Amino acid sequence: MSLQNYQYDIIMREYSKTQSRNRRLLEERTQEIYEKIPRIKEIDGEVASLSAQKARALLSGESSGLEDLKAAISLLSQERTALLVCNSYPEDYLELPYTCPICQDTGYVGNQKCTCFKKAAIELLYTQSNLKEILKKENFDHFSFDYYSDTMKNEATGLTERETALRAYDIARNFVKNFDDSFENLFLYGDTGVGKTFLSHCIAHDLLESAHCVMYFSAFDLFDLLASSKFSRDKTEGEEFVFDSDLLIIDDLGTELTNSFVSSQLFLCINERIMRRKSTIISTNLKLENFSETYSERTFSRIASNYRMVKLEGKDIRIQKIFLGGK
Ligand SMILES: [Zn+2]
Repeated sequence: MSLQNYQYDIIMREYSKTQSRNRRLLEERTQEIYEKIPRIKEIDGEVASLSAQKARALLSGESSGLEDLKAAISLLSQERTALLVCNSYPEDYLELPYTCPICQDTGYVGNQKCTCFKKAAIELLYTQSNLKEILKKENFDHFSFDYYSDTMKNEATGLTERETALRAYDIARNFVKNFDDSFENLFLYGDTGVGKTFLSHCIAHDLLESAHCVMYFSAFDLFDLLASSKFSRDKTEGEEFVFDSDLLIIDDLGTELTNSFVSSQLFLCINERIMRRKSTIISTNLKLENFSETYSERTFSRIASNYRMVKLEGKDIRIQKIFLGGK
């Protein structure tokens, strides 16, 4: 798990909120019970006074009478439980409730993170990835090879569209499998609607499920973010997202308005992530031969030497789906 400090802080703040919520709940229950079963209020008063006596006795080393005090406290607490049960309340009704009993809402068991912490982290990462809803449908389980022709062949590679898709699918699967042990970047290219975005979503889904920080941006939104954080004072958060997430997906590169700002930001982003050994996936409709014209030779050369080229071919899947009745 690789959370940034501010993400860790968000999760820890949630734990303190949960703790206060549960403390408030206990206060409300106590009020309720004091009104309904006044004897319990008396018992609590007696226990408090006996406990104070016990503490004084312990401090002064006065051990005579200590056993009697303990016995009296124990009797009172038995009476308290019995009263609750008689009045059809659960016996732990006046104990501090925990949302996660395993870590008692601290997020930790000893110095290990609790399973609820991991769940909270995944939830947060999903929310921040910009992909939360779509990944329920777009993941490896829903990847279909039916959209790719098993007769149409690419003359240059000798592979059918389906074989090309299979190859891309395997590369994507292995990308996920080796994610923690190797540094790899993917450059997904091909015409509109051949499944590039879908494939990047499959990867995002699996990496989020294993609590990696995945950020997804359309190229348009990414440059918009970089432009706004560049000119605002508090530029760190947006940029740290972009430079430091475990995986950055830049979707549909080439559809944004290209200018010298975009071009230099793209180089900065790609270069910075390579230096930090943080993986990036770029998907684009651009032909490889047009890429360096659209951006720059140096950007293309960084990509060519650090990215794995993955091609997808076929007919526009969105259009095929329309003909299949929106399936
Ligand atoms: Zn827990």
